[in-house]
Amino acid sequence: MINAKGIVAKSSNSGLSPSYYFDRRDPRENDVVIDIKYCGICHSDIHQVRSEWGPSLYPMVPGHEISGVVREVGQKVSKFKVGDRVGVGCFVDSCRVCVNCQNHDDNYCLNGMTQTYNGYEKDGKTIAQGGYSDVIVVDENYVLKIPGNIPLDRGAPLLCAGITLYSPLKHWQAGPLKKVAILGFGGLGHMGLKIAKAMGAQVTVLSHSDKKRADAQKMGADDFVATNDPKNLQKYAGYFDLIINTVSSADIDLHLYFGLLKLDATLVAIGAPDKPFTINPFPLIMMRRNFAGSVIGSIKETQEMLDFCGKHNITPEIEVIDPSYVNQAYERVLKSDVRYRFVIDMSKL
Ligand SMILES: [Zn+2]
Ligand SMILES: [Zn+2]
Repeated sequence: MINAKGIVAKSSNSGLSPSYYFDRRDPRENDVVIDIKYCGICHSDIHQVRSEWGPSLYPMVPGHEISGVVREVGQKVSKFKVGDRVGVGCFVDSCRVCVNCQNHDDNYCLNGMTQTYNGYEKDGKTIAQGGYSDVIVVDENYVLKIPGNIPLDRGAPLLCAGITLYSPLKHWQAGPLKKVAILGFGGLGHMGLKIAKAMGAQVTVLSHSDKKRADAQKMGADDFVATNDPKNLQKYAGYFDLIINTVSSADIDLHLYFGLLKLDATLVAIGAPDKPFTINPFPLIMMRRNFAGSVIGSIKETQEMLDFCGKHNITPEIEVIDPSYVNQAYERVLKSDVRYRFVIDMSKL
């Protein structure tokens, strides 16, 4: 076994504490052993640490925005060598045989992907543990290469926040002549702005208040609308080809935003609310509009996203923190008081 140290949640109300010692499996022939350097804090970590999406598995070492350096490789590993700069995202295995896995849609594996944490490994009994730790062992087919010009601290959030935006923007063809709105301007939203701009789209940020207007403009937004006064939205009726909703609260009035879509245009939900939306279908029916969802991206697409970000020099805005600060960081994420993603420095563990 490989000795690992991590930050653990022992129950849904324990909070997180550092200095948790646990074992990782010895590398199998296709495994890569990764010294974790950084791990981002995703809002979904907080939901799962607190069992807000149903009962979680404890003890839990969260974290699925992992960057690091290869320490050791199994005998049959062909894609990676010791010293490579790598990342691990939201899943570390999938069935590999269902039609979705065969078609490089492994994030939609019909038999359930193996989550990086808060799930069982393929043996069905070992609780998978995530990236708030110093080392992880992952099959090489679920490890990503981080381009040389992307620093490892800024690279970490690409593994969830980055791919969560890249995948729907690509699927719904954000690009030149397309009017794209990013609803919500936090960890996810600011990545959406940067990626959609690099794809060539005209991008409007829809944010609750004017507070982040200057930031959005600095990051390239063509337009910025404060949504706290619905009157500001009126001139955008029937305007957008695509709206990506990064807001995870169910209290948002989606009908306001359905009305901003053109004929046949789509609003995509990627923020996962803790309770259901209520939807009146009329705004959809009357203009053949679509309401869709999307979750992360496949391994193949995640590599494509990392290479795209390398080519266009896209990285998230981050605040690097020590492991001892993680509980305070969670409180600040809940208050949207982070510019724009917390990343934990695992060398301080
Ligand atoms: Zn995430
Ligand atoms: Zn599958």
